[in-house]
Amino acid sequence: MTVDASVRQRIADNVAQTRERIAAAATRSGRSAAAVQLVAVTKYVDADWTHAVWDCGCHELGESRPQQLWSKAAELADASIHWHLIGHLQRNKVERVLPHVTLLHSLDSPRLWQAVEHACQQQGRELPVLLEVNISGDESKHGFAPAELERFVMDVVMPHDGAAIKVQGLMAMASLEGGPERARCDFRALRQLRDQVAAATAGQLLLPELSMGMSDDFEVAIEEGATLVRVGSVLFEGTGA
Ligand SMILES: *Cc1c(COP(=O)(O)O)cnc(C)c1O
Repeated sequence: MTVDASVRQRIADNVAQTRERIAAAATRSGRSAAAVQLVAVTKYVDADWTHAVWDCGCHELGESRPQQLWSKAAELADASIHWHLIGHLQRNKVERVLPHVTLLHSLDSPRLWQAVEHACQQQGRELPVLLEVNISGDESKHGFAPAELERFVMDVVMPHDGAAIKVQGLMAMASLEGGPERARCDFRALRQLRDQVAAATAGQLLLPELSMGMSDDFEVAIEEGATLVRVGSVLFEGTGA
């Protein structure tokens, strides 16, 4: 779908405003704006609109469906896009999506770990990943239970020092209910869990990245230590998308 000039302008304004809000939240939490990466979530729009987001300087793009990621990656092969897979990955889609992914945010089970590690070795590549944690305990969500995470890291991640998977940190979504202050508790819990697990590895695995915060709660997430925010809807506000 071609993108008319007024829509382009609106997306550009939304991106600029979002960047300002990110910078302000980073400053409030005593960090530099550069310490927080904006992952622009383009799952709501087609390839032309996705390209329009890229034109606004957003080169880190997030998709939640593997099929959508690989088809957009093919359509937009000319643009130097870093694709982030942020949604659940079924094992039968690993092989096909892997070549396009810069960072997998949603490594959510031991079985998926095995499948991804196997595919990385077949394809001769390393893959940075985040371990998804079901921090809010919502039954509908994927992810490691907080109480299982340390065990998984000590039993699976640490012994495989030379693995193709490179664990960079944790990812979570806040509770669906409860608003930004409930979200703050979830984000803080994720940071504390990261600190606990990193301490258990005696600092051998630092887990520096925390992917948390979406349109409704990214500022709170930054105040609680987010290094990656996954923002979609606000970028398309007022465009009719
Ligand atoms: C859709 C989605 C987002 C973006 O959500 P918005 O509220 O549109 O900003 C972030 N993370 C995940 C995992 C998503 O599926």
